[in-house]
Amino acid sequence: MDRFSFLEGMTCVDCKAQHEPAYMLQCPLCGGLLDPQYDLESLKRVGQRDPQFRGLWSYHRVLPLWDREHLVSLGEGDTPLIHARELGRRLGMPRLFLKYEGTLPTGTVKDRTSATAVSTARQFGYRTIAVVSTGNAGVSIATYARRGGLRSAIFCYERGDPLKMAHMSLMATRLYTYEGEYDHLIEEFDKVMDRREVFDGGARRNPYKHEGKKTIAYEIVEQMGPAPDVFVTQSSGCEILTACFRGFREMRDLGVVDSIPRMVACQSEAANPVVRAFRAGGTIRPMTTGPTVAKGLATGRPGKKGEWVLSMLRQGGGLALDVSDREILQAQRLLVETEGIWSGPTGASALAGLIKGVQGGLLDPEDRTVCMVTETGLTSPYPEPVTHHVVASMEGISAALEAMT
Ligand SMILES: [Zn+2]
Repeated sequence: MDRFSFLEGMTCVDCKAQHEPAYMLQCPLCGGLLDPQYDLESLKRVGQRDPQFRGLWSYHRVLPLWDREHLVSLGEGDTPLIHARELGRRLGMPRLFLKYEGTLPTGTVKDRTSATAVSTARQFGYRTIAVVSTGNAGVSIATYARRGGLRSAIFCYERGDPLKMAHMSLMATRLYTYEGEYDHLIEEFDKVMDRREVFDGGARRNPYKHEGKKTIAYEIVEQMGPAPDVFVTQSSGCEILTACFRGFREMRDLGVVDSIPRMVACQSEAANPVVRAFRAGGTIRPMTTGPTVAKGLATGRPGKKGEWVLSMLRQGGGLALDVSDREILQAQRLLVETEGIWSGPTGASALAGLIKGVQGGLLDPEDRTVCMVTETGLTSPYPEPVTHHVVASMEGISAALEAMT
């Protein structure tokens, strides 16, 4: 029988020790993060993509699920890569592409990692999965847990967006709101996860979970041909950037692409530990986050993943940028006006960073650039609707349309 996964083992990011594939959240020797390794020589022969599957699971050979009986899917993956001609024209960027994740089953990029988290939780015999969330991850994990027959425990920020809270309470086995600071809750949560009674659905350590987001890089290369010159993403828990960097690196090692794109990490000014460390040339210093419209970016202590992102940015000539709420909301509006895309503020924050980078002369507008739009706006707070009044008659309708021509 074909091998479903070509996973060979885990390498510790810090001490470089090699470990057999097993459920581990960190290196048992030094506590470092784990970097899954695949059998690249065999992959070169069979290819990284299996055309018998669609979407995310067509890349099952480079995902850590070896028992296909446990595969859980709601049709995730294969999101559009949109050539943003009008947005690009306004920004002077003729080769700007948007990877739009709002078409995923729960409307956010989180579905990629929920698919691999719930599937591998089943593979390892877990019955319960838990996550700390500001909204999107909670919705997504709870939804995939339902589909996969697992129990879910979601710990959510009490001021989460109302629609996300409603969605979570519908899907979760148990939804808890918490008192105190988000980052503090995550640190306490990690200590409980080390007891391994439930599967860790969080973004900080679990390598079996974070592999799902690697498929973003594989899809982009499938959709564009060569890798882009620049890849821009929002970065809070740092999962997208680390997963995609690894995806591009794997494809380079497989001979599928020539190089790894220049990576750009965007954060909110209210929660910018990676940007501060990048600017200062030092290590991450934990910070207390302020309020931001991009609730999904409210991480002041990204842990070891933040350090991993820094090393990736520094290795590859990358960039870290922070943006204000005003810049995020402008980017959100610009997506609507130019491309008809309605994203939540968190999802529009990478575009805000891209605009800042191009206008500040830090990024080349001629580069082939992919910018992540990580969520739909349909579950975020809405602006007040603006309507125009017409009289219910033919004359009224005619007068209204005349005003437009
Ligand atoms: Zn180690």
